[in-house]
Amino acid sequence: MLIVMQHDATRAQIDQVVRTIEELGYQARPMPGKQRTAVGLVGNDGKVDASRLLGMDGVLEVIHVTQPYKQVSREWKPENTLVRLPGGLTIGGDDIVVMAGPCSVESERQILAAARAVRDAGAVILRGGAFKPRTSPYSFQGLGLEGLELLKRAREETGLLIVTELMELDTLDAVAEAADIIQIGARNMQNFALLKQVGRLRKPVLLKRGIAATITELLLSAEYLLAEGNDQVILCERGIRGFDPATRNVMDLTAIPLVHRLSHLPIIADPSHGTGLRDKVTPMARAAVAAGADGLMIEVHPSPERALSDGAQSLTPGQFHELMKQCRAIAEVIGRRVAETAVVS
Ligand code: PEP
Ligand code: MN
Repeated sequence: MLIVMQHDATRAQIDQVVRTIEELGYQARPMPGKQRTAVGLVGNDGKVDASRLLGMDGVLEVIHVTQPYKQVSREWKPENTLVRLPGGLTIGGDDIVVMAGPCSVESERQILAAARAVRDAGAVILRGGAFKPRTSPYSFQGLGLEGLELLKRAREETGLLIVTELMELDTLDAVAEAADIIQIGARNMQNFALLKQVGRLRKPVLLKRGIAATITELLLSAEYLLAEGNDQVILCERGIRGFDPATRNVMDLTAIPLVHRLSHLPIIADPSHGTGLRDKVTPMARAAVAAGADGLMIEVHPSPERALSDGAQSLTPGQFHELMKQCRAIAEVIGRRVAETAVVS
């Protein structure tokens, strides 16, 4: 529930609304806006008596948020959330932000070569998993803490920001130290213990859609992060399980305009996992930009044929360069632009 204050409501009137909400046994989240302040009521179990709040001095209206997710919804916050990154880069505004790099960090040589290649093609964020959620326990599981060190080195060397996956709570501090954006992978989208802890950090989070998750489930998982106080959340469409083995997943492009209507959070697209096939990545990246994606996540490997994970869907540096060129052209047609290098300190 959202209590919208009159534009000339006084500080004392807002404080009184906050106190009343707390007396009723709920949490109050004052949200000062350009036009007026609204006070969010969190924890509504459906039993709140709106008339008590509506009758208070300075209150303009009470809005019932109809969606099961509250703080994530556009009803709660009409304007887009901007996720702010070091170096002044933002996700959720006009810029389309591209994150690229290998599926896994494999060696110093590999990650540095990948980082230089994606930077030269125009990516601003380096991706690479140090902790890998693999379907088989016998597949390469990632370099772990050593992989995080290599990512830090790549950041120092290239100036690229880092996005990397957090799989378990016991590596939270190490991952948070290495990453500019913490990735929660598809398999952990509903790991609520992990979401709660990451929600307590002040660090951007990339939340990937679960393999068989509905949009409502994705947004409810994001609600866990916002409920803990972290609104720096980027959603990611990465394909969902379909019935046809012709592609690894079914890339659900409709998720992009859907999420934009339902939520104020940015959403990016990952056509690498979305298709699983190298030659399908660029067409679907173009389509995602056209559909309004706020960014792209693309797997790029210096030698995809030698990759320890996801080689079949990894682009060569040359293919990625071409993808960027095409996506810049599409961005321009829809009045956006592909973000250029951030300056990191
Ligand atoms: C990845 O980004 O390499 C990854 C494992 O993605 P997802 O969680 O979407 O499968
Ligand atoms: Mn991968």
